[in-house]
Amino acid sequence: MPFSNGAREDHHPGVRSAFEHVARRNPDEPEFQQAVLEVLECLSPALSMNPRYATERVLERLCEPERQIIFRVPWRDDQGQIHVNRGFRVEFNSALGPYKGGLRFHPSVNLGVVKFLGFEQIFKNALTGMGIGGGKGGSDFDPKGRSDTEIERFCQSFMTELHRHLGEYTDIPAGDIGVGGREIGYLFGQYRRLSNRWEAGVITGKGLDWGGSAVRTEATGYGTVMFTQRMLERNGRGLDGLKVAISGSGNVAIYAVEKAQQLGATVVACSDSGGYVVDEAGLDLDLLKQIKGVDRERISVYADRRPGAQYVEGGSVWDVPCHVALPCATQNELDATAAKTLVNNGVLAVAEGANMPTTPEAVQVFREAKVLFAPGKAANAGGVATSVLEMRQNARRTSWSFDHAESELAQTMAGIHDRCEDAAERYGSKGDYVLGANLAGFEMVADAMLAQGLI
Ligand code: GLU
Repeated sequence: MPFSNGAREDHHPGVRSAFEHVARRNPDEPEFQQAVLEVLECLSPALSMNPRYATERVLERLCEPERQIIFRVPWRDDQGQIHVNRGFRVEFNSALGPYKGGLRFHPSVNLGVVKFLGFEQIFKNALTGMGIGGGKGGSDFDPKGRSDTEIERFCQSFMTELHRHLGEYTDIPAGDIGVGGREIGYLFGQYRRLSNRWEAGVITGKGLDWGGSAVRTEATGYGTVMFTQRMLERNGRGLDGLKVAISGSGNVAIYAVEKAQQLGATVVACSDSGGYVVDEAGLDLDLLKQIKGVDRERISVYADRRPGAQYVEGGSVWDVPCHVALPCATQNELDATAAKTLVNNGVLAVAEGANMPTTPEAVQVFREAKVLFAPGKAANAGGVATSVLEMRQNARRTSWSFDHAESELAQTMAGIHDRCEDAAERYGSKGDYVLGANLAGFEMVADAMLAQGLI
């Protein structure tokens, strides 16, 4: 029976009390509560296996960020008007390594959203096996329609405050929604001016000529598809010949399209916040990159320029029949109604390129229909994993070829997949990637916390 706050009677008492504690202390943060519940409700078997997780209150400690920084970001627009935004950095857990996670610039950003993203990042980063802690940051700044110089001034103001909290052994940001190569450049430039150090490893997603890594731009989308391929292969087939639908048309979506096409799939749809396009012949990737990456236009323009493609304003991309669905836009974008449509249309696999894009009710629909489901903290970990590859190159003052970086990414994604698969099997839920990812990530972080005393 579910409690009003989502915990259930069949959960371990340690899970129930931890969730009650979190719900009480973070009342106005629905995304954070959702992310915590999704992890905690998988952990009962771990608590039964190792009672120290409960007696030493690891869950309560894990759900409280180590540090939360909130700051003012004043900046001047091109007309000389002054704006005041709010900046955040939540340094959530450093048991396994320095805080690592992206920065999101979007009007929906608030403390609860940053905490949900930071919390997810802890387990995602653990699953990479690369020794990184979890953190996340951002601002409620809306980059849409802002000029280049406005973006530059905003980034400089944001970093003027944030720089004192960063360092390659302390906290290493990167991009996320609204923060790409251009913004990382402005942020890094300001960090260097303030610190007077060439500390390449303090931020990732840098340009290839000044400390960036090959494949970092492609990594999240590529990694999501590599994970999907391995998951499908375990079930006797690959992506070759399958129809794929993708939500979003930003960095993650575009490179998911690219890798899916390389593996022989036909990607028939993608979207933005205004609607979606269907192109049964398969999306024209060069056109998509031009429209979204260069012209910074809406996705509707794709249908104007591509014969045979249609634009559906305001509709759900999940209405498009497909074998594989890759939600790559934003949190809670795929609900139970969409999940049922996908199941009725015969979807075989769903993998989250975005963070928490599938609502808990939709996950349940996929579970009951026995659809292969890869949660974001496993499937989209390729981005942060390649950030660590970038830091490795920075530390050794070297840079790898595209092929070398891509094969390292492929190995890392295989490792993440197998860690999830193994944990699910050990706990008697073979094939359940949600349980596998949460249990495997949790064990690594919790064991490190127990070993390091009361932290
Ligand atoms: N924002 C990305 C994520 O959600 C990348 C983080 C990073 O590279 O630090 O994992």
